[in-house]
Amino acid sequence: MKRMAILGTLVITGTLTAAVGAWQQPQPAPSAAAIEVDKIRPNLYVLKGGGGNTAALVTDAGVTLVDTKLPGWGKPLIDKVKELTDKPVTTIINTHTHFDHVSGNVEFPATVEVITHQNTARLMREANPVLGIQTGQQPNLFTEHKGVGLPKRTFTDRMTLGRGANEIELRYFGRAHTSGDAFVIFKGLRVLHTGDTFPNKGIPIMDANNGGSGVAYPETMDKVAALTGIDTVITGHAAATMTMADVKEYADFNRAFVDDVRAAKKAGRTVDDVARSWQVPQRFKGYGQPPAERLKVNVQVVWDEIK
Ligand SMILES: [Zn+2]
Repeated sequence: MKRMAILGTLVITGTLTAAVGAWQQPQPAPSAAAIEVDKIRPNLYVLKGGGGNTAALVTDAGVTLVDTKLPGWGKPLIDKVKELTDKPVTTIINTHTHFDHVSGNVEFPATVEVITHQNTARLMREANPVLGIQTGQQPNLFTEHKGVGLPKRTFTDRMTLGRGANEIELRYFGRAHTSGDAFVIFKGLRVLHTGDTFPNKGIPIMDANNGGSGVAYPETMDKVAALTGIDTVITGHAAATMTMADVKEYADFNRAFVDDVRAAKKAGRTVDDVARSWQVPQRFKGYGQPPAERLKVNVQVVWDEIK
């Protein structure tokens, strides 16, 4: 029964969990045909399926990818990019450490430059379990591949790559989903990739095992929402692109949750009580109601951070 309950929870948890299931069970080898492509600018694509959303920026100098999906999806990504351009992939940016965003790295040539936030570079070596999704020490794909796919270039607050219409700015705004969440801004194209800090319209993973924070979450998202010059937002997992208004709403959504947990703790309630009773406020249209077991993980994270 317990196992069934856990499995039920995991299924509802969403994309990352579905991805975990796919990873742990024997599956047919993924292929490029399973990757869906959205062209959102003349030279910028969103490649969907096989884990987190991948962005592909095609320039004369080569292709820059943002995130590389689950184990086994690197080769399909390479094949899919070949359908879009004859330029090679030269750069990979990973938005954060989670396995459904970084694992394809090991399937690219070792000459491809991998760039992450400095904390993500450390977390990729640590391979800590994703809070609420995995337990125990995880196998380290990068160690198994003798370090191929690990970042050799990192940033702390800001980094600029390329120039003109193809300029990319990497920003860090503090802890949220993990302690190494990079925001990738395609400046000339007015597009932002948020990674999983904004996965979709639902509760995030506040991965305390990887430096994530509940209390800091809305504060970090406020800084993202204050960015200007962006028309289109690629999220971690949603099928459709979003706007900065959605980012602002997501900051408010997370603030509402943190404020409610804070008030409940002050009022002497319990984590279980809050997890069972918390409802998505009516004003957040299109947000699914998460199950109590899933909520409990986030309630506990915020709870433990409030003194
Ligand atoms: Zn993630």
